[in-house]
Amino acid sequence: MKKFKHKKSLGQNFLTNDDIIERIVDSSEIENSVVIEIGPGEGVLTEALAGTAQKVIAVELDNRLIPQLQEHFGDYDNVVIVHGDILHMNVEELVSQYAPTGKYKVVANIPYYITAPIIRLFLELSRSPQEIVLMVQKEVAERLSAEPGQMSLLAVSAQYYADVKYLFTVGKEDFNPVPKVDSAIIQLKIKKEISKNEDTKDFFRVVKIGFSAKRKTLSNNLANGFHLYKKDIESILLSLELKNNVRAQELSIAQWQELSQKIII
Ligand code: SAH
Repeated sequence: MKKFKHKKSLGQNFLTNDDIIERIVDSSEIENSVVIEIGPGEGVLTEALAGTAQKVIAVELDNRLIPQLQEHFGDYDNVVIVHGDILHMNVEELVSQYAPTGKYKVVANIPYYITAPIIRLFLELSRSPQEIVLMVQKEVAERLSAEPGQMSLLAVSAQYYADVKYLFTVGKEDFNPVPKVDSAIIQLKIKKEISKNEDTKDFFRVVKIGFSAKRKTLSNNLANGFHLYKKDIESILLSLELKNNVRAQELSIAQWQELSQKIII
């Protein structure tokens, strides 16, 4: 067989360590679940997922990989190979076709160049998955699972929708080709009670403005962004037991929620 030429532009770093593949499957709680896998590559993780999950829907963009995936998984009655770009396809339709109950999970070693858009896509879907388990850059995994004091817009966005947990680190040497950075497995358990409505919009308006200028205090950013008096913002902060000079990265999700309710009336 011809040697596969990996495309950097498609984030192609294939997993080579079976122990890591096993740990991903073990930590995913996918028995009896429909799983969407983004970027199966040559199908090493797909194969392991298929051994446990009820069904695996594997979406691969690179047309060079499709024939071998189709041939390898042709005999599997629980694997479907879909050729397409995960960010430019109708994922809602994919979900209603293969997971009509709306219950499914996402497990993948994804192309890192689209980590944030993939996470946003699945968190914002009207039928979001129950759980997302992803291989991402280690630094991104740390940012996603950050605690108050180290929060970012990315962390607040993810933790608004999900309980985020850093599961384990994966070294560069477990991939081919070997990437420049270490990786980690991150788990997002979607919160059931989250609604996607006007409150969500208001919440993100306040969070985005709160994080707008990195070096400024939260009250400065909010005063500028909402054209409010600083002293009015400070009295809202006081009512939340936050200091005048608090910075956006220090707030918890619950504090952002209270803040957005008090600012947008
Ligand atoms: N899961 C495999 C491959 C990971 S590399 C493994 O662990 O070995 C990332 C994979 O995502 C590659 O196969 C790449 O072709 C694919 N990919 C890149 N961009 C994509 C997109 N927009 N939609 C779907 N798949 C994509």
